[in-house]
Amino acid sequence: MSLAISHSVTYDVDRVRRDFPILQRSVRGRQLVYLDNAATTQKPQQVIDRLTRYYREENSNVHRGVHYLSEVATAAYEGARTTIQRFLNAKSEKEIVFTRGTTEGINLVAQSWGRKNLRGGDEVLITAIEHHSNIVPWQLLCAEKGATLRVAPVNDAGEVIVEEFAKLLTDRTKIAAFGHASNALGTINPVRQMTELAHAAGAIVVIDGAQGVPHLPIDVQEIGCDFYTFSGHKVYGPTGIGALYGREALLDAMPPWMGGGDMILSVSFEKTTYNALPYKFEAGTPNIADAIGLATALDYIGSLGLEKIAAHEHDLLLYATERLQEIKGLRIIGTSRQKASVISFTLETVHPHDIGTILDQEGIAIRTGHHCAQPLMMRFNVPATGRASFGLYNTRAEADALVEGLKKVLEVFG
Ligand code: PMP
Repeated sequence: MSLAISHSVTYDVDRVRRDFPILQRSVRGRQLVYLDNAATTQKPQQVIDRLTRYYREENSNVHRGVHYLSEVATAAYEGARTTIQRFLNAKSEKEIVFTRGTTEGINLVAQSWGRKNLRGGDEVLITAIEHHSNIVPWQLLCAEKGATLRVAPVNDAGEVIVEEFAKLLTDRTKIAAFGHASNALGTINPVRQMTELAHAAGAIVVIDGAQGVPHLPIDVQEIGCDFYTFSGHKVYGPTGIGALYGREALLDAMPPWMGGGDMILSVSFEKTTYNALPYKFEAGTPNIADAIGLATALDYIGSLGLEKIAAHEHDLLLYATERLQEIKGLRIIGTSRQKASVISFTLETVHPHDIGTILDQEGIAIRTGHHCAQPLMMRFNVPATGRASFGLYNTRAEADALVEGLKKVLEVFG
């Protein structure tokens, strides 16, 4: 990774920060320094206002009503779907299914496409940097079907070894599932290349985009994947909402995975016919308000400029990486050439939980633990790491605060 630092002049981070009320608050008597964005992001006033307006003025159930409010709510909910379709550059709104988040998106593919198409002896290929939510759903599926889970290894920088990934793709591989970016190390995968390789072997491709959408412009047609899923709360939107993109022909051929209202055309005790896409996969009253809030969040980051956000975060990554070299005994885990603004580290003499606790006293929020990636921690021979993850509102001054905080940690424990 090159450490040339270029500071973005066209991005006014101070103005951006004013959109996020929570950033103004203090914690433990200190100004909050929020560096836990890979776990969840803070929400701009625009999103908070949109949720409030929905509940104050528009609340109703969608799709079924003929009355005014139901039409307003339906238009806003379906409008949110269109926003997501455009954001991901999917061909059609039919390819966007609302879910609770990334976890549900992956489980939907495993339970619907996977249960229908996998047989004993088949294989699912993932990589060593996956989040548990891109491991366990495939383990459940493989156990049920007598299939095998294969894992492509990573090198010491935390990059997937693409040649090994390619070698593990055989005519037995039915599904290749991998993250766009790693929440634990920041590694950005060459998703287009990996998709081409998997398709050449005849596998479908599922991309966990939980850490892709917050940091990178996404074009699912350009990537060429079959499924791409992400969570609203990691991209400045509400919790409890996310979306799954699926190629229309695949979604069309898949059985529903949950039954209930809204996903049917007609029901009798003898036979039920299912609704068209994407409603076939949206049983029950959906999370209307948060879907609308998610669209507002995507509009918000779109208005700031995705390229500008990426450049700002990259600047923070390089700046913080360089400054952290000052800390004695600090080891950065994950030094991928293509990297999102996530820095995982250990301190020679201090347990990560102690690092997190001391930093918390300074008002600095980082995450410590295994980051829902226990196999990856084993690969690097550490039980846990400290992780600072930067978002669009973070500043170089906050990276400085982290460095000063770590110096205090060393004073206490060093
Ligand atoms: N994948 C990755 C890479 C993640 O970072 C996360 C959240 N930490 C998830 C999947 C799961 O997302 P959610 O909990 O929002 O479903």
